Amino acid sequence: MTIKNMQFTCPNCGEESTYPVQTDGEAPEQSGLAFHQDLGNLRSLDIPYTNSPNRDAYGPLVPQGIVVHYTQGKYQGAIGHFQNSASKVSAHFIVARDGRRIQMVPLPDPDTNGPRDGRYTAWHCKGGNTRYIGIEHEYGYTGATGPQDWTTEMMESSAELSAYLCHTYAIPVEVPLAPDERDWFTGFGGHYNVPNNSHTDPGPYFPWDYYIDLVQWFYGRMAADSPPGAAPASAKPIREVHGSGKPAYQTL
Ligand SMILES: [Zn+2]
Repeated sequence: MTIKNMQFTCPNCGEESTYPVQTDGEAPEQSGLAFHQDLGNLRSLDIPYTNSPNRDAYGPLVPQGIVVHYTQGKYQGAIGHFQNSASKVSAHFIVARDGRRIQMVPLPDPDTNGPRDGRYTAWHCKGGNTRYIGIEHEYGYTGATGPQDWTTEMMESSAELSAYLCHTYAIPVEVPLAPDERDWFTGFGGHYNVPNNSHTDPGPYFPWDYYIDLVQWFYGRMAADSPPGAAPASAKPIREVHGSGKPAYQTL
């Protein structure tokens, strides 16, 4: 194994930093831990941790993006599934329809919860596991009928989490691929975008535009020039849910 200090440039703010990565295998070229010196006001996530045994240390996880998933069962059922070593699956985070969040696999970020044992790779997207942070969203029990399944509480809670992760790991706040495209994207994507995976989550109704607007809003609110608790520079995006089709949203 070869460890090399790689130079990273944050795609969001331009700050440069270095981070040691394992270079044999497919190391991402442009991502990594970017503990921004100017983000002194970035507060730690207040998310409870319940351990999943389904994780490993297959190289240091150097997240180049975030994979959005949905669960096939309820929130508590998904937690139990990830606690069960026989299931062989996990994700770093699960977000419930009412906005509750839980972390089940630790991250190489000392400000998040969980054991510091180096086993930061969750088992959520096969060959993409060492590249991506996985966020599951409680979905399946309503029957997955349309955009109304993605509650505002869940989207806001998840977007706040994602904004923190984008600050920490210099992940660009963008969705580079269409739902039917598969590639090793940098930024945000669905499970359906990850090569060599057959899953179709998060499905055709995930409100990507609204979600990314929310991530950008929280991202800006976490910036160093926004003291904790200060009013954000712009109003939070509001979603209008219609009966079917792509959700419309507006920024007030
Ligand atoms: Zn999935």
